[in-house]
Amino acid sequence: MATYIVLLGSPGAGKGTQADILIEKTGLVHVSSGDLFREHIKNKTELGQLADSYMSKGELVPDDVTIAMVRKRISNPDCEHGAVLDGFPRTLVQAETIKITLNEMGEDISVVPYITAPDEILIARLSGRCTCRASGHVFHKLYSPPAKEGICDIDGSELYQRDDDTVETAKKRLHVYAEKTLPLINYYRKQDKLVEIQGDQPIEKVTEDLLAALNIKV
Ligand code: AMP
Repeated sequence: MATYIVLLGSPGAGKGTQADILIEKTGLVHVSSGDLFREHIKNKTELGQLADSYMSKGELVPDDVTIAMVRKRISNPDCEHGAVLDGFPRTLVQAETIKITLNEMGEDISVVPYITAPDEILIARLSGRCTCRASGHVFHKLYSPPAKEGICDIDGSELYQRDDDTVETAKKRLHVYAEKTLPLINYYRKQDKLVEIQGDQPIEKVTEDLLAALNIKV
């Protein structure tokens, strides 16, 4: 049986950072729908062009194309032991569809850590965030600056501010999150899969809580 973990939480809650740590500890594959879209944008594909028109405004990319993209990704052999899903599902339709897909494979979502933080912290985090062009490593101008400004500590590539990490777009993304993604909290709570993790703590403490919730010993 494979392990599928859905990391739930607002934009800026720390899902990407925690997903990176989690894949290191578990050997699972990191599947981030946002990263997949950014890869398409970088490669100038048709899907990338479509996704960009929504992402730059802080809106969700339509369910059908998002679901098809993630389905294809998790059917890749490297996901045979499971995956950490980050930023997906973001709507009830996505959640229902992925459940059906996994069930058809004889699998299911194992657990859904829900990382929470107050809105003002999320906006400050999103608008100070800088991301590495090569691999998407994330730094923050105030909270976790790179050793050398504008350069990724991990792979030396250029750091940039995502189009959707401005204050205005961050607010819009939080609004979209509240409207479209919050219903997933009850959806997974009812299935007894939800575990709340307080995201406004130091990164190491969030990881510790997360690993404890997942029952992973380090
Ligand atoms: P993220 O990197 O997860 O913050 O996602 C960045 C942007 O990509 C979002 O604001 C959406 O425009 C788009 N996106 C990522 N994941 C999804 C999804 N599951 N459904 C729809 N749009 C998504």
